[in-house]
Amino acid sequence: MTTTAHPQIPILDLKPEIDELRPEIMAAIGRVLDRTDFIMGEDVHLFEQEVAAYLGVKHAIGVNSGTDALVIALRALGIGPGDEVITTPFTFFATAESISMVGAKPVFVDIDPATLNLNPELIEAAITPATRAIMPVHLYGNPVDMTRVMEIAAKHGLKVVEDCAQSFGARWQGTQTGTIGDFGAYSFFPSKNLGAYGDGGLLATNDDALADTARMLRVHGSRKKYHNETVGYNSRLDTIQAAILRVKLPHLEKWNTHRREVARQYNEGLKGIEGIVTPVLTTGHAFHQYTIRVQNGRRDDVQQKLAEQGIGTMIYYPIPQDELPIYRDQYPAYEQSSLAAKEVLSLPISGNFSLISSVLNSLKSI
Ligand SMILES: *Cc1c(COP(=O)(O)O)cnc(C)c1O
Repeated sequence: MTTTAHPQIPILDLKPEIDELRPEIMAAIGRVLDRTDFIMGEDVHLFEQEVAAYLGVKHAIGVNSGTDALVIALRALGIGPGDEVITTPFTFFATAESISMVGAKPVFVDIDPATLNLNPELIEAAITPATRAIMPVHLYGNPVDMTRVMEIAAKHGLKVVEDCAQSFGARWQGTQTGTIGDFGAYSFFPSKNLGAYGDGGLLATNDDALADTARMLRVHGSRKKYHNETVGYNSRLDTIQAAILRVKLPHLEKWNTHRREVARQYNEGLKGIEGIVTPVLTTGHAFHQYTIRVQNGRRDDVQQKLAEQGIGTMIYYPIPQDELPIYRDQYPAYEQSSLAAKEVLSLPISGNFSLISSVLNSLKSI
């Protein structure tokens, strides 16, 4: 009897990368232990310099998480109670949560079904006298049309905070996402394109004064120790995480290129299949996720069948933000966002090509 059992393919497997880099990572952690500079140590400063150089931005500021990066960006821009921030309903909760956390109100605009990102053409209609900022999210690593967003922001005197949690290394027309708006907020959550081995985040900005305020906010609102000027945060990037990230950063371009090549193979393999919509491939896309749309109400069935064959998939995100218990009944319906939540399915993206081809074969046989 022959068996056609497929290998177990998880949506994400961090082990191969850890195995590849283990000696360097252990050595980097060892150097931190030798120095005992656990808080704001040497690796944090060096990592900040290396990221600033990589992104082509003046200031990179390590913080405790991507969520904190968003919150500190909003606080540094002076956004708080009574203010409105325009963003997408189709994102991870932390985007809208950061706006609520500073006491402002998230105002959602629907997504463009072609990109699944907020539709810039809907922004102007959502602007009110209370609007202070736009928070675009480069979902799945796919850059938002930042030319259009910046044009609208300039016209209406709005600030721009880019949620780059999923887009480290992505580029809009050759420029790194996160370096176009007033702030870029990045996450080093372990599953992100550049992932730490714990929580971590970073802010990027070209503005000296904003950088200074953000640095003040991350250490309890003090520029000088014990001279606190405002209520801030305990939100530093751990030295051990910075040391790990310094080992990983030089590999990022190669990893992102691999993701784009996997995406290209998926798109090619899934071409012409009725009811499956593949993502748009652009050179600046960082493919944090490779996400297809399964139409005609078949998504959950396809996910179930893939699971039976040992293939892990995820739904990012099953519930748009405006439909979450916290925000429900406060917003109108966003048709494209609601539909996307019922159709999206993310496939394994970081595995080797033979894993990818078994995912493709399974998908084609369903
Ligand atoms: C992961 C993520 C965040 C939050 O990052 P954390 O480091 O987990 O706090 C924010 N926004 C988006 C779009 C994300 O995917």
